[in-house]
Order: sequence, then C-alpha cells, then structure tokens
Amino acid sequence: MITVETQHVQERLVELIQLQVLYNRLYAVQQKKGDLPQQIEDLELQLAARARALAELQKQIKELDQEIRTLRASNDSLKDHEQKLNKILQQVRNEQEYYKVESDIKEIRLTLEKNMKDISKNQQRVDGLEQKRREEEAKQEELRKFIAEKQELLDRISQETAAQEKALLQRIAKLSKKIETEDARLFQLFERRRRSLREGRALVPVITLEGREERVACSGCHTLLPRQLQWELSQRSQIFVCESCGRFLVDAALFDQVAADLE
Ligand SMILES: [Zn+2]
Repeated sequence: MITVETQHVQERLVELIQLQVLYNRLYAVQQKKGDLPQQIEDLELQLAARARALAELQKQIKELDQEIRTLRASNDSLKDHEQKLNKILQQVRNEQEYYKVESDIKEIRLTLEKNMKDISKNQQRVDGLEQKRREEEAKQEELRKFIAEKQELLDRISQETAAQEKALLQRIAKLSKKIETEDARLFQLFERRRRSLREGRALVPVITLEGREERVACSGCHTLLPRQLQWELSQRSQIFVCESCGRFLVDAALFDQVAADLE
C-alpha cells in the first residue's frame, strides 16, 4: 500500500476531492464542444479542395469557349472568302481557272464543315462541364450551409460554457493555491497525475465491482484492491495512491459527500 505523508489528512483529503470535483466539472463543460472544432476544420479543408476542383472546371469551360469563338471567327472569314470566290467563278476566262477556283471553294467548304463539327463537339463538352459545374456549386453551397450550422452550434456552446469555464478556473486557481501553501509536495503529486492521466483524473473514488459486492476496485484502472486497503480507506486517516495507476484513492462515500457539499 502506497501512502502519501501529510499533516491534517482529513482536511487535505477533502480539499483534494474538492479540487478533483472542480476539474471533473471543468472537463465536462469543455466536453460539451466535443469534436466540433475538429469537425469544422475537416469540413473547411474539404470545401477548399472542392473549390479548387471547381476553379479547374471553370478554367476548362473558359478554354473551350475560347476555342469555339476562334472557330466561329475562322468560319466567318471562310464564308466571306467563299462568297468572293463564287463571284470570281462567274467571271473566269477559261476552264483551267474555273477548276482552280472551284477546287478552292470545295476546300473551303470542307474546312467549314470540319470547323462546324469541332464547334458542335466543343459545345457538347461545354454543356457537359456546365452541368457538372452547376452540380458542384450546389454541393458546395450545401457544404457551406452545413459548416455554418456547425459553427453556429459551436459558437452557442462556447457562449454558454465560457462563463462556467471561467468561474470553475477561478475556483480551481484559488483552491490550488491554498493546497499548495499547506503542502506543496502533496499538491505537486496531485498536479503531476492530473496532467498525465486520462481526463485529468488524478483522484478517484473506489468502486464496488459488479457481482462482488464486498470488494472494491480503483475506478481509474479497475484494479481490485486488497481488503486491508479497503478498510484503511474507509478510516480516512491516511492518503493512498493506487499501486497500478498511481491515482489518489478515496472512500466512495467521502467522495460523494464532498462532491454533494460543493456548490
Ligand atoms: Zn488505479
């Protein structure tokens, strides 16, 4: 059995329990935010990635539009040229010239046709991409709304808990100072455990194990405690720590009593 030497054991025990209860309350208050901050951060990253994909999509659409415009401009001038050649065709002086001009006109028509096909192909791609862009924009809008809702919830919880957190921290600071003044070594032992143990539980009450009503265990690590220690704890005349996890151990009834008395 590991004991911690100190003066005025009963008073110190009560103070340590009070301090732990305040920390438990603080932890519970802080837990109300849950993983909301992390969730929001993840969603923001997701949104940023989607925004980049959308920008890429818009760039593709712009490039295709530009190509279409170039092809149309090219067709306009080809049509002009075709008209001119048609006039020339009326005025040719010999067959040789006629065939030459006629073959030029044929070539222009082929190019015009090919350009028209390219325009239509590009237009189809633009339509497909536009459809995708609209869908993506709608999805992002939904995601933005979802993030805003989460942020609103987090803000509300933060607002509600800020005052509680502040009040608890003030009480903790005051009590910590008191214990430290009375027994600096004891306070340091407590603090070291609080900082390193899960949920900051440096001190725990013992619990009765299910199906083993007469035996108790450390509620921090669930190690069954020797009967002798169980009895010693109930005497409240010494301070013990769990041999397995190092947590301060206290009688459950005392813990509950102190917690209930603490406003
Ligand atoms: Zn333990």
